[in-house]
Amino acid sequence: MHIPVTGDGIADSTHTITHWGIVGARIETESGITGWGFTGTHAFLPGDRLIASCIRDCYAPLLIGEEADRTEELVKKILYYPAMQWIGRAGITQLAIAAIDTALWDIKAKKYNMPLWELLGGATKDVLPAYNTDIGWLSIPLDKLADGAKRAVESEGFPGVKIKVGSSDSTIDLKRLQAVRKAIGPEPMLAIDANGRWDLQTCLQFCKEAEAFDIYWFEEPMWYDDVKIHAELARQTRIPIALGEQLYTPDAFKNFINAGAVHYVQPDITRLAGITQFLEVAEIIHENHLPLAPHVGDMGQVHVHLAFSHKACSMLEYIPWIKDAFIEPICVESGYYKKPVLPGVGTTPTKKALEKYVVG
Ligand SMILES: [Mg+2]
Repeated sequence: MHIPVTGDGIADSTHTITHWGIVGARIETESGITGWGFTGTHAFLPGDRLIASCIRDCYAPLLIGEEADRTEELVKKILYYPAMQWIGRAGITQLAIAAIDTALWDIKAKKYNMPLWELLGGATKDVLPAYNTDIGWLSIPLDKLADGAKRAVESEGFPGVKIKVGSSDSTIDLKRLQAVRKAIGPEPMLAIDANGRWDLQTCLQFCKEAEAFDIYWFEEPMWYDDVKIHAELARQTRIPIALGEQLYTPDAFKNFINAGAVHYVQPDITRLAGITQFLEVAEIIHENHLPLAPHVGDMGQVHVHLAFSHKACSMLEYIPWIKDAFIEPICVESGYYKKPVLPGVGTTPTKKALEKYVVG
């Protein structure tokens, strides 16, 4: 499915998009349970077709006829299938497996007639604060940015917001940051996100000035895979570093954590080959006494379950683009997530959405 984003489209420092892409897997069982799972993309159809063919042609034949609720065993089978592992331990293969893994967990949760958070042992918290990212795109002009942030905090009750930075001239971002802090006042959480755009020198200069605005975290300041420069930035600024949305494996997370290069860790099931590996990474994060703040490539549909259930997680990002395509949309009231109630993992689409948004 390709589902329109807010307004005519949005941009950050690196991406310009008009639709969110949902590339999915539907798994049917002999007992009549249907599991749904998906990964998130920028709705680039040729790329989406590659993921879909990876699901259909490479992994589906390995699963047909298997016992559907042997979740971890089946995920391991496709994750480490030698001929596929040879060509992809990152990228398209992980996105494809994410859709399948999520569908398998959906089957299990439906079989036990529970929402995923309950299947995973129950909620570890009563309240889950949401922070709003959809007010903060780089494509939003300054006056609208400040107004939107103020409205999110004052009228809609969000305890926090995140705004994009990473312009070619970082003084523009400082002005935007200053305006938003002024508009929302000193209390609400305010995070920034450069989507990997800047270099160390730019970040160091920027952070020196930005420290005055009480930044909750600085997300993806520099190139996604470079551990060394993030560790260096972490040593030289008081602003905490957040990252993880572009990491594909538990080892990649270990490398950043062991180097002291990350303070808020942001795994995402849609890139991390699904819920099974997410849980593995969540344990690593927890063992290292770091906070987990999921990125929402699924726009929160599954992550809301994981955030309620895992002890390392105390907040969740909010972007409302695709929620109405599902029979149980994510729901934020007065800035806090509601616990899902339906059995499954939150990925069952409505018939209407399938009719309206499915593309070739
Ligand atoms: Mg981000």
